[in-house]
Amino acid sequence: MQLAGKVALITGGNSGIGFAAAKLFTQQGANVGLIDLDAEGLEQAASQLQQWSGAIPIAADVSQAGAMQQAVEHMIDKWGKLDIVFANAGINGVWAPVDELELDDWNAVLNVNLTGTFLTVKYAVPYLKQQGGSIIVTSSVNGTRMFSNTGATAYACSKAAQVAFTKMVALELAKYHVRINVICPGAIATNIIETTRKYDLDEIRPRVEFPEGAIPLSEGQMGSPDQVAQLVAFLASDAASHITGTEIWIDGGQSLLQG
Ligand code: NAD
Repeated sequence: MQLAGKVALITGGNSGIGFAAAKLFTQQGANVGLIDLDAEGLEQAASQLQQWSGAIPIAADVSQAGAMQQAVEHMIDKWGKLDIVFANAGINGVWAPVDELELDDWNAVLNVNLTGTFLTVKYAVPYLKQQGGSIIVTSSVNGTRMFSNTGATAYACSKAAQVAFTKMVALELAKYHVRINVICPGAIATNIIETTRKYDLDEIRPRVEFPEGAIPLSEGQMGSPDQVAQLVAFLASDAASHITGTEIWIDGGQSLLQG
């Protein structure tokens, strides 16, 4: 039980990669706080995890400072400490030609993906500093090693900035034995694909075809949230004790091919 006795906060914990990580964390003995928007869904998710370890639902919007401060305090009230933070909540938002992208759509993506990461880390850090810990941020291949998803401009910019954020904070927190790393998944089968709003992309997308499929390692099949959760659990654990400020792509080679 690699994570026995650890306390972990997971944003976007209701679905996809966040829920898969929460499942693996609890199976490995960690207590988890799940942060997400949908209170009812969170109750169900947490009760499913309670068969393995402690899990509490915390309905909060990661882009709201007050809500995130309260969420972290709720974790401390419950378990008295915080060891692991998985800053994972994110949205694809609107993908559209740059002259059609509305300021509100741009702001929505940056607020959740980038400001949400900042707020999650900001309020957790005072507690992580007390005994050391591990932060994992979910970025993407988009904006880090892949730039051909034309129209996903706001998303890619938010994901690129998460990598810079990770590296800045890694140096700052090293002396407190707080590690922070960033994972960059390729296409993973989750709900995020259904919630993406796409407009007029045919007009701006370059015509490129990958006849053998765009994910070389899996004959074109998308990765699973469970595969990503394995990486997150490794980075959260003491097995990764000398790793900080690093991005790790988990994409079956997709970004090498697609670029
Ligand atoms: P998902 O939609 O299944 O899960 C994301 C969760 O985040 C949802 O439960 C959603 O309700 C929550 N969320 C959204 N906005 C929130 C907010 N303001 N406050 C709190 N919670 C909020 O998608 P996923 O694929 O599991 O996404 C997780 C992360 O992985 C995201 O950061 C995403 O950008 C990243 N990612 C996903 C893929 C992929 O192909 N699925 C690829 C690369 C990166």
